[in-house]
Amino acid sequence: MAKIAINIATGSLQQAEMIVGIDLGTTNSLVAIIHPESKQPVALKEHDSSSLVPSVVHFDSLGNATVGETAKQYLVSDPANTIFSAKRLMGKSYNDIKQNANFFTYKVIDDDTESLVKVQVGDKFYSPIELSSFILKELKQRAEHILKTPVTKAVITVPAYFNDAQRQATRDAGKLAGLDVLRIVNEPTAASLAYGLGTNTADASTIAVYDLGGGTFDVSILNIENGVFEVLSTNGDTYLGGDDVDRLLVHHFMEQFELSDTELAGDKMLTQELRLLAEACKKALSSNTVFETTFRGESIRVERSFFEQLIQPIIDKTLACCKQAIADAGITIAAIEHVVMVGGSTRIPAIKAAVSNFFQKPVNDTVNPDEVVALGAAVQADILAGNNKDFLLLDITPLSLGIETMGGLMDVLIPRNSKIPTKVGRQYTTSKDGQSGMRISVYQGERDMVKDNRKLAEFNLTGIPAMPAGLPKVEVCFLVNADGILVVTAKELRSGVEQSIEVKPQYGLTDADVEQMLLDSITHAKDDMQLRALVEARTEGEQLLGQTEKFLSKHANALTQDELLNTAAAMQALQLAITMDDKDLIHQKIEQLNEISRPYAERVMDTAIAVAMKGKTIEEEL
Ligand code: AMP
Repeated sequence: MAKIAINIATGSLQQAEMIVGIDLGTTNSLVAIIHPESKQPVALKEHDSSSLVPSVVHFDSLGNATVGETAKQYLVSDPANTIFSAKRLMGKSYNDIKQNANFFTYKVIDDDTESLVKVQVGDKFYSPIELSSFILKELKQRAEHILKTPVTKAVITVPAYFNDAQRQATRDAGKLAGLDVLRIVNEPTAASLAYGLGTNTADASTIAVYDLGGGTFDVSILNIENGVFEVLSTNGDTYLGGDDVDRLLVHHFMEQFELSDTELAGDKMLTQELRLLAEACKKALSSNTVFETTFRGESIRVERSFFEQLIQPIIDKTLACCKQAIADAGITIAAIEHVVMVGGSTRIPAIKAAVSNFFQKPVNDTVNPDEVVALGAAVQADILAGNNKDFLLLDITPLSLGIETMGGLMDVLIPRNSKIPTKVGRQYTTSKDGQSGMRISVYQGERDMVKDNRKLAEFNLTGIPAMPAGLPKVEVCFLVNADGILVVTAKELRSGVEQSIEVKPQYGLTDADVEQMLLDSITHAKDDMQLRALVEARTEGEQLLGQTEKFLSKHANALTQDELLNTAAAMQALQLAITMDDKDLIHQKIEQLNEISRPYAERVMDTAIAVAMKGKTIEEEL
């Protein structure tokens, strides 16, 4: 299969061009490239400013978005309209994040369902994909401004533990920002590449990547062989990082100034000042052994040894994760040849020392830990651009492969540029009670609606035993073998009924066709995304109406007169909204109906209905 390079600006095929590497981080994001002259990776920055762009989006009263340092200023003064940590919401449903819901100071829609979360700002609803696309758009514009050339292709990094849905969401965010995402790369893989580990294809080695950022910690154990990086295990704590170090120091200062939690809660200004003081103290102690200043007229002195004692519990937690990761990888500490440090918090000397001591070897810490992932992404981008001939490029799928789901949407199972051979399975369910068959339509292409993609095959899975909607578990599996042949299998797991089909995805497509399909996907990304959001909102609305009707037919007598009247009015309003082209209006009406039904649904909900409400559905009934 061909590796295709397209200049989106001119629409022409090219052999080599600059592809940027992007680290889309929870706290900060940045762009790096391979410098055309020095051939070394460099992080892009404007003159004296930092290369880091805070991953924060602020919306003003008109709904206009600003990103980065300017947006960060609003975190304290306008928390409801300032979105941080959108990465934590990527590919997640509310059920996935509800234990940490208090973490978010903005409104995350809390419908207790399996569908993907949305964030409400004023009367608008944003998906995490849209929020991330604002950040990527800002990075793209910055890069174009600095490089004075259009930037259309990128490699984007994600945590090694990101699942398929989270990776797909990251790709979609890139597409929405006008970027052709050539590859999604694991952050620890990128960090290792930045240190040149694995670039010698003959080497086989085992690497530990310790990543302690502002809000998250993860450790990955990688094995590199013949230029292929395999993640052996990952471990970590998605709510542990430099912010916790800051909080310990804030607590220490509160004790010194005899401030109570309630005093602090009522004074946003003081809270913010103390947080900044704590961060300044922590950073100073990374290079000095004592920190001295005055705060509101009082003198402050913190010694490094005291600070190290204070944060020891945090260090211990991270080392426990390392221990578990090594056990899960089925290796011993001695088998690890290199340790790579990532994330701003690894600048703390006590952390470096503890990690080095744990792994019994010096750590790789010469590359800026905030930039190392983006720099590695740039190395990977350069390999994809064909500039690094030593690297073996494995065969890849030139276009995404997926199936049709409700509303004519494309659900991608194998994203374009995936290495082959590859195998992906995903579960679907029925939308109607007693549904006995399902039509599986296989498509190829990058557009969100299947009608804009190329149909490869279609077959029927029949003989599903009669069950209530939502109960059957149909696993659709895509296998692309080393010859590029796609085998699609659908199997109902409860009954074991199975069907399969074989197709040649590339058949009849020229490079120019593939190029045109890719160009179309980027030109139409915004419209496609809006249409997808509308179709999804309508589907969600219709499902909710169906569920509510079903619920009422069984439990109407358990409801008060007011509840019945309010429900009928909210259902009518939702029905009307579905006929219009405004996804925000549909979400508002869904919210309103949920608000009304939640109290009585909780009262009488039976588990069978709860189960039936779950899962994705394929519309087609035979
Ligand atoms: P990241 O998420 O990788 O950008 O990491 C940012 C975190 O690193 C924040 O918690 C920063 O406060 C922290 N950090 C940055 N510089 C230093 C430093 N010199 N010493 C200690 N922590 C730092």
